[in-house]
Amino acid sequence: MPSAKSSKPTNTLTLSGLADNTQATIARWLIRPGDFVHEGKTLARYHLEAGGKELTICAHQSGVVHRIFVKNGDTVLAGQALCELRECAHDESISGICANCGADVAALEKSGNRTAGMFGSTACPLFRISAGSARRQQDDRVAALLRARRLALVLDLDHTLVHTILPRAVPPRVLGRMAAMSASLSRDGRPDIFEVGVWDDRRRDHVPHITKFRPWVRSFIASAAERFELYIYTAGNRPYAAAVASLLDPTGILFRGRIVSRDDYPDVPTAHKKLDVLFPADQHWALALVLDDNAETWDHPAEPPRRNPRDNLIHCPRYHFWPPGWGDTHNPVPETGLEEMGPAGATPHP
Ligand SMILES: [Mg+2]
Ligand SMILES: [Zn+2]
Repeated sequence: MPSAKSSKPTNTLTLSGLADNTQATIARWLIRPGDFVHEGKTLARYHLEAGGKELTICAHQSGVVHRIFVKNGDTVLAGQALCELRECAHDESISGICANCGADVAALEKSGNRTAGMFGSTACPLFRISAGSARRQQDDRVAALLRARRLALVLDLDHTLVHTILPRAVPPRVLGRMAAMSASLSRDGRPDIFEVGVWDDRRRDHVPHITKFRPWVRSFIASAAERFELYIYTAGNRPYAAAVASLLDPTGILFRGRIVSRDDYPDVPTAHKKLDVLFPADQHWALALVLDDNAETWDHPAEPPRRNPRDNLIHCPRYHFWPPGWGDTHNPVPETGLEEMGPAGATPHP
């Protein structure tokens, strides 16, 4: 049976396998421009003579339908261009699928040509953008900072703004009094101890965490936001980062989604935080101040002549509220429950 073939190097489809000058009539197209088609998908039906048997034109490769050159009912010649397939050139994808045309871009994501972008997406952790789009976003953001003459303040979460533990480590009598404790402990009269559900993809469920704000953290970030563009940069995973961010900034106006988690840059070792993630060009590093209790995570001189990101760090005292042994990852609780949580559940980080 004749099939559509590519006349390489273009991805134009023609009727092939027919003698020259054979005429065929397109019965109907089954695709539209913009559709993504897998190799082998039926693109159109045609017949060689009026009332004759309908034959099919199939895609010889996967691609996005760019143009269709002939209409339903048109008579075409063998070898005539029928339609053109192109590779997906869209910028957004989710879990290996183009968010615009549905193209399979898993290979692009794997090759590192896709990134979570500067601050991923809290709504969909699997959302990725193209490297080109990420670069354009970076350029726009740096230009906006320079125009506004503002600096970026990059905030760590655990032991800097909050102290988080896993509640199964907390004695039940304490757990029961948590709300009362929170009100009496808070410096600004508002609760500052929260139980928060953090999505665990492996369990397909929310895992409760208990987060205590550092005293005055609300007024600190509110006044910092007047002078700086605020970022969260945590070695915790994205669901944890998003959950704590929504406690610190319930309306989202302070951080505006500027959250970097370990999930967003899987190629960066978890023991390190990299300023390149926010400012890829060295000359823009001067725009960033970092506040973190863990100096080591920033102390990794890049290849000379690059600077050491430690130079951007304000090293703050480590904030500890919960007693040692209450489920902090640095003081693991010797109960089986915590081990079960595995790395995904045990999100609090230095
Ligand atoms: Mg920390
Ligand atoms: Zn696409």
